[in-house]
Amino acid sequence: MEKKKIRIGNTITEYYFDASLSKLGQVADKKYSVILTDENIFNQYQKSFKGWNTIVLKPGEEYKIQQTADGVIDSLIDMHADRKTTLVGIGGGVITDLAGYVAAVYMRGIRVGFVPTSLLAMVDASIGGKNGIDVGVFKNLVGTIRQPDFLFFDVSLLKTLPEAEWQNGFAEIIKHACIRDAVMFRELAEKNIDWYRMKKAALAALVRRNVMLKTKVVQADETEQGDRKLLNFGHTLGHALENQFELSHGQAVAIGMTYASQLSASMLGFRSAEKVVDLIAKYGLPTFAKFDKVKAFDVLLHDKKRERSEIHYILLQRIGKGVVQTLPISEVKRIIEKF
Ligand code: ADP
Ligand code: ZN
Repeated sequence: MEKKKIRIGNTITEYYFDASLSKLGQVADKKYSVILTDENIFNQYQKSFKGWNTIVLKPGEEYKIQQTADGVIDSLIDMHADRKTTLVGIGGGVITDLAGYVAAVYMRGIRVGFVPTSLLAMVDASIGGKNGIDVGVFKNLVGTIRQPDFLFFDVSLLKTLPEAEWQNGFAEIIKHACIRDAVMFRELAEKNIDWYRMKKAALAALVRRNVMLKTKVVQADETEQGDRKLLNFGHTLGHALENQFELSHGQAVAIGMTYASQLSASMLGFRSAEKVVDLIAKYGLPTFAKFDKVKAFDVLLHDKKRERSEIHYILLQRIGKGVVQTLPISEVKRIIEKF
């Protein structure tokens, strides 16, 4: 297990790479910790939870709501959790988001650590301190930015991850490659999901590369005044689609990245849109989807990230070089409607 101390803002977060869930006790004290997890993880890894205080939630994004947070707070009170307690979120992005959110507000803030178990949570959701809950159709409308005390990466947990969740994770990995890492883009184009699934060392290296890429972006701009916005590549349209159609987050972002690449070609002369689309398709994700554009733009207009009639849109100058552009929504609409 490799330990690395990472400073973001005023917080030091301990990153543990090549860790193993069975060794969690070396990082968190059983007596003073409460684990928050979901039924899928709890059932798969029962042995690892022996002797720990645990709160087990039903799986699913539909439970990432205030009512669930209130239930977790009630359980913490029942367990006599206090300021010495560490909340440890073990699960996908839903669990790490909820754990971070509850830990930020319970007694005005207690220690929190994450053990991400999905690829998406490892490379994206667990990093950067954003946490929160959904309110109605609005994803992550309520929450805080607060860095965790530790992150614990055990890629062997991915053995039990369902196929569709691998694709979700790769959507964010492709996003990272597009905005910041042309070398990784090339590697991804040469390999595929099955190859990474079979090669534990390569998978661990890929996770680590993505963790550090996102960490560097967040370190430079924790509160999203500038370059952290790059991480929204594919997400502006993606979120609008995810809210209305039966799409996973990864699928929605994949379609968002496809259209953002086309916009980049139209507006910045980006020449590799086809390469991006091919890579997205290679990882089992959708590209040009037929969707109700009037409905999608209606949601875009009400997106909480909207600033007046203009919108921050992330475009690509070239592979590995994302840029933040302020565009009139009408212009985005005009170009997207062409496809
Ligand atoms: P995400 O990580 O994609 O944001 P979730 O937290 O909802 O979203 O996790 C996705 C689904 O995968 C959930 O049903 C969760 O229980 C399940 N899951 C997460 N990690 C694992 C794992 N290592 N093994 C089996 N199922 C998992
Ligand atoms: Zn995302």
